Amino acid sequence: MTEESERARRSECESEFESEPTTEIDVPESHPRYQSLLTRHRIEHGVEAGITSKQGLIAQGRGEAFDYLLGEETIPSADAAERAAAAQLLLADHPVLSVNGNVAALVPDELVELADAVDAALEVNLFNRTEARMEAIADHLRAHGAEDVKGLTADARIPGLEHERGKVDTDGIYEADVVLVPLEDGDRAEALGEMDKAEIVIDLNPASRSPRVASIPIVDNVIRAVPNITAHARELADADSRTLERIVDEFDADEALEAAEERIRSGEF
Ligand code: ATP
Repeated sequence: MTEESERARRSECESEFESEPTTEIDVPESHPRYQSLLTRHRIEHGVEAGITSKQGLIAQGRGEAFDYLLGEETIPSADAAERAAAAQLLLADHPVLSVNGNVAALVPDELVELADAVDAALEVNLFNRTEARMEAIADHLRAHGAEDVKGLTADARIPGLEHERGKVDTDGIYEADVVLVPLEDGDRAEALGEMDKAEIVIDLNPASRSPRVASIPIVDNVIRAVPNITAHARELADADSRTLERIVDEFDADEALEAAEERIRSGEF
């Protein structure tokens, strides 16, 4: 397939993706597996539209297994982490929400709403970076209301990562003081953490390296986590900085990871 016909195919898939409400699947909302089926449906369309990589399908499968074990709900320690994340984002001078192919397919509207609530920039940042996918994701976010999407300039590097994987925008992730990285791979999460940034990671696996290096690990599904951070941010919008700092200080990352692991291992709901 030539590059042109590949682009045309993707554009066709993308418009199909846009015209089809992402909540629409042939399963009633009352179905006990509704959320899980909806997630699969969105990821599948993300791959067809050239937004999500095939590797993203594997990541989705891993996430689903952990979500199942967590009871497919936001556990109390995750809710506390989401509140701390909201406080940390509100305190930031230059917050950035990093967007990859899975997140773009799963929660585009919710990311735009969160960016708006905490005045953060959105930056496309891919493990398997191709210009076509970068552009497809940026277009997709714009179609969902994003005004400014960073990541395409790629004029800076995260130290310690090889060329392609380290590319970021100077006025985006590179200069950010707080970064939200949902579903990040361990190496990059570690390298970002070493750049002296506050790092908020969303990952359903509490044993994965990314949440383990985060200052605020959120063990929850992005589908629930992103809107819940926004809800906390709206609720905290008028809080003074001392209150916000206290919420961040009182959050204990190790305790949150232990609580999630305990829930998974004990199976007690
Ligand atoms: P690491 O290098 O940090 O150990 P990994 O190899 O476990 O990472 P990948 O397989 O690259 O990570 O990424 C998938 C990660 O994303 C898994 O930990 C999985 O639990 C998580 N994940 C997948 N889907 C979701 C989702 N919808 N919400 C939150 N986390 C998810």
